[in-house]
Amino acid sequence: MISFDSLPGNRTLKESLQHALTERIPQTILLSGDDSAGLETLSTVLAAGILCETAGKRPCGMCLSCRKVEGGIHPDLTVVDEGENEIKVDAARRIKSENAIIPGDGDRRVTVIRHAQNLNPAAQNALLKELEEPPSYAFFILTAEQPDALLETVRSRCAKFALEPPQAVLSDDEAAALLAPYLAAVAAGREEQMMQAAVGLEKTPRRQLLGLLGLLQAALRDAVLAANGLTVAPLVPQLREQTAALSRTVTAARLLRVHDFVDELTGRVSRNAGAAAMTCALTADVYRICFI
Ligand SMILES: [Zn+2]
Repeated sequence: MISFDSLPGNRTLKESLQHALTERIPQTILLSGDDSAGLETLSTVLAAGILCETAGKRPCGMCLSCRKVEGGIHPDLTVVDEGENEIKVDAARRIKSENAIIPGDGDRRVTVIRHAQNLNPAAQNALLKELEEPPSYAFFILTAEQPDALLETVRSRCAKFALEPPQAVLSDDEAAALLAPYLAAVAAGREEQMMQAAVGLEKTPRRQLLGLLGLLQAALRDAVLAANGLTVAPLVPQLREQTAALSRTVTAARLLRVHDFVDELTGRVSRNAGAAAMTCALTADVYRICFI
């Protein structure tokens, strides 16, 4: 059920948004923070709150509108998500023309622009007027991992809310437990299981994801050494079983290429690669490097 409770922590932020939803919600909101998954959850809950049909606490999670938002089928909710790609002026024009249409289901329309820092300057300028004086029914939710990359003229038009950084840093034991099914699937050469395991990793907040990829590289180094027949103390003893299995089914040369590929992937993740892109990289690309 869609609700503010689906985002852990952030009590003050959730309370102020909840309050704004019952009093007067700003028409243009900028949510910032470096936890992409948290921003995505929060923007969806907030969109549901704006579109919710209940008079009481919003989003109620139960009305038809809330359920349509949850199902991703609300006709008056537009989500722009270009992942790590630049958002160009064409997209801004599309947003404007969609917003010219009055809402179909209720009396409000919401546009969510994820990774708004990727709006190029032309697109930001094209949206300025829309953000400053939206039609009375139109609401904008921008989410940005790097809000400072937005033009000041855009930022100044938004009510700003910041997500707290995710508190917990993954311990090596926790990260190893998350990686174990993935490495086992690679060692077994099972692409479908690799995908399932990689999808599980998608939910890790970005900051923790970088630590996770670092540990994956260390485990790959262990596997390379084992594949070369070297017996040294492993960097990641928690994954000893998986790296040994990997060294038996994938050659050292290919493991080295995966190691380098994870390096490149780390760069992409730190530049806000979408979770789906990462899953694809850890599945199709790694499978190709290892086995084709
Ligand atoms: Zn509702």
